[in-house]
Amino acid sequence: MRIDVITIFPELVVGFAGHSLLGRAVAGGEVDLRVHDLRDATTDAHRTVDDAPFGGGAGMVLRPEPVLATVEAVDPPRPVVALGPGGRTFDQATARRLAGSDGFTLLCGRYEGIDQRVLDHVVDEELSIGDYVLAGGEVAALVVVEAVTRLLPGVMGNLASAEEESFGDGLLEYPHYPRPAEFRGWEVPEVLRSGDHGRIGRWRRAQSLRRTIDRRPDLIEDRGGLTAADRQLLVEFGLDGPAD
Ligand code: SAM
Repeated sequence: MRIDVITIFPELVVGFAGHSLLGRAVAGGEVDLRVHDLRDATTDAHRTVDDAPFGGGAGMVLRPEPVLATVEAVDPPRPVVALGPGGRTFDQATARRLAGSDGFTLLCGRYEGIDQRVLDHVVDEELSIGDYVLAGGEVAALVVVEAVTRLLPGVMGNLASAEEESFGDGLLEYPHYPRPAEFRGWEVPEVLRSGDHGRIGRWRRAQSLRRTIDRRPDLIEDRGGLTAADRQLLVEFGLDGPAD
């Protein structure tokens, strides 16, 4: 998969991408990550990428010329995705969609944002990582890159863990407990030490349901509510009380 990132801070992206799973995926060739410095496409001595907006107002805006010049020079993979708080909220379904593609491009804004003509004519979609405002798109781009690349075949050791984890089937994940079995008087639930894998699987599913009911009732609604089997599982483990 090829992923291009267009930014005025390439070192932020390259630095992060050198570590952990993503670093290994880049080194191993599963991910062809190409980071482009927007300033390389400028023509003035000061390598200017921004200008004041027409109509006035606080702050500067990324100009269209360096973005267009970069896109035309490197012919990056589509879709071209701009990061911005006004975009559709990035979620696991979007991560899965992008992971199923051959590649995509992330355009990082700065200052007050990106020239609207670029968003209208060059960008295919806009993604936000949440309802808050960052200083630039780089951290948001890295969120997208990390969430997508860990879903690629061969990047995570155990693909089953991607299917079982939060949002895999519209639920939050169940809790995990490593050794020791007892730590400062806090015990690992007995069922996990029972060796009864059928019961462990049912308990985990019940915990996922309970956690999602309490923390993300919207996800339960998206699934069309609880099934009879879900209710039965909650009763089996005494988790069928009202939501928190
Ligand atoms: N003036 C813009 C507004 O009010 O919507 C905010 C611009 S922000 C200071 C600068 C850049 O940071 C944006 O162009 C975008 O690339 C990035 N950014 C900020 N918040 C973001 C978010 N929640 N998700 C994705 N990108 C974000």
